[in-house]
Amino acid sequence: MTELNLQYPIFGPQIQCPHCRQLIDAITLTDCYLCPRHGAFEAEPETETLIHLQSGRRWRLWDGKWYRQHTHPDGIRFEIHEALDRLYTEGYRATKVIIARRYYDLISSYLEKSGGWGTDQETKLYKLYGLPVEFSDKFSDDPAWEVINFVLEKEKGTPPRYPYFRLFE
Ligand SMILES: [Zn+2]
Repeated sequence: MTELNLQYPIFGPQIQCPHCRQLIDAITLTDCYLCPRHGAFEAEPETETLIHLQSGRRWRLWDGKWYRQHTHPDGIRFEIHEALDRLYTEGYRATKVIIARRYYDLISSYLEKSGGWGTDQETKLYKLYGLPVEFSDKFSDDPAWEVINFVLEKEKGTPPRYPYFRLFE
């Protein structure tokens, strides 16, 4: 690392604001970035996490993209709901949600449990918005799952007979 790099926080001289995606500058010789609209973000080198000082929201970076690190079940449920919404407008429908294993303790008690019987794979019984939920155990070798939150498995959708909101009742 050159001396020049040492002047900047771990994510470099500029990052995209996780809220508005605008490029924002690091404040030299601090661990902070400043967005004119959203205020200060602090980089935490030990955990490679970006923290919004005002709200305490946390993000980690994977493949050039910020992933919010949720601390409340509603946060991740809302993010999944938004992703389902986008998928639907793109003409797909989701067939399964795979959620990062690190959220198991946070979210498992908030998921619907379908009354499966005689199975020893407990994770197969969980549902969210009517979709089967799995946790990311089968990807345990993949470091992406330390950062990303979930993946939706999808198929080409058929036009729904109901207004969209009924899909998620
Ligand atoms: Zn911003």
